[in-house]
Amino acid sequence: MRKLWDKRVIPKVLGGFCQELESRGMPELPDITVYIEALSSRVVGEPLERLRIGNPFVVRTIEPAPSALAGRRVIGLRRMGKRIVFGMTDDIFVVVHLMIAGRLRWKDRGAAIPGKVGLAAFDFPEGTVIFTEQGSKRQASIHIVSGEGALAALDPQGLEVLTADLPTFVERLRLENHTLKRALTDPHIFSGIGNAYSDEILHAARLSPMKTVHALSDEEIARLYDATHATLETWIARLRDEAAGNFPDKVTAFHDEMAVHGRYGKPCPDCGAPVQRIVYAHNEANYCSRCQTGGKLLSDRALSRLLKDDWPRTLEELEAHKSRRKL
Ligand SMILES: [Zn+2]
Repeated sequence: MRKLWDKRVIPKVLGGFCQELESRGMPELPDITVYIEALSSRVVGEPLERLRIGNPFVVRTIEPAPSALAGRRVIGLRRMGKRIVFGMTDDIFVVVHLMIAGRLRWKDRGAAIPGKVGLAAFDFPEGTVIFTEQGSKRQASIHIVSGEGALAALDPQGLEVLTADLPTFVERLRLENHTLKRALTDPHIFSGIGNAYSDEILHAARLSPMKTVHALSDEEIARLYDATHATLETWIARLRDEAAGNFPDKVTAFHDEMAVHGRYGKPCPDCGAPVQRIVYAHNEANYCSRCQTGGKLLSDRALSRLLKDDWPRTLEELEAHKSRRKL
């Protein structure tokens, strides 16, 4: 028992705990899409009676103030990368970024903001959206901005894959020579795709996460495009079915039906080989060596190549990366 309090043990225990939290994964395009559908049917056309703040640090902007939202109607909701945007009257936008551990719940009108994890509450006539964040890191955020210009400044401007045609996809993909894992998850290149769905897309495309963009044949890029569409569309439909008109309350990056993501050591559903992993920073990429890398296990050398490839050390760094790519 004394050992648990040993200085060398505590950081390990805490480190494990933090990793556990990070392994929840950030909600991505399919999850955010289903959140937006659930919110739209409940709040579009309704006045936001009040935005209550549980933790003042969650609001990252000063003007307009949260109090300026009271009584404004929600005109529409949209997704911007992995963020949820409430469009209000008079061109005011409320941008909610869940990051890794932020979640939304639909509760009775006026429900209390939970003490430890509660960030904010959006009160509507028919109910209240409660915004929480598990864990000790405060990464989730709300930005309140005025005008489309201010909203665009928050947009990492990744390509919307589901509405892009193949030539546009090819053009965007070939702009920079990253590994496929990096290219798919960079919010400035593609919108809304993160660690979980990139693993699934690459498995469906039968492509190695370490393969670089410029090494891809035209046929392989077409396969990647098709796999991206198929994977995202399948998961939107699946999550929509799971929610069945209710507010989605089990948002997680891990699903039993996933082929490789979060399934290290488990059999690949297509060939039965054990799923492999590459660990980097606080994250891991999962792949099937038989389906994706010609039976080759990606070595430490390959991993260091990945890291050398200018990979931001954390997802937050990737998200916070402000540089714009000129198209
Ligand atoms: Zn396989």
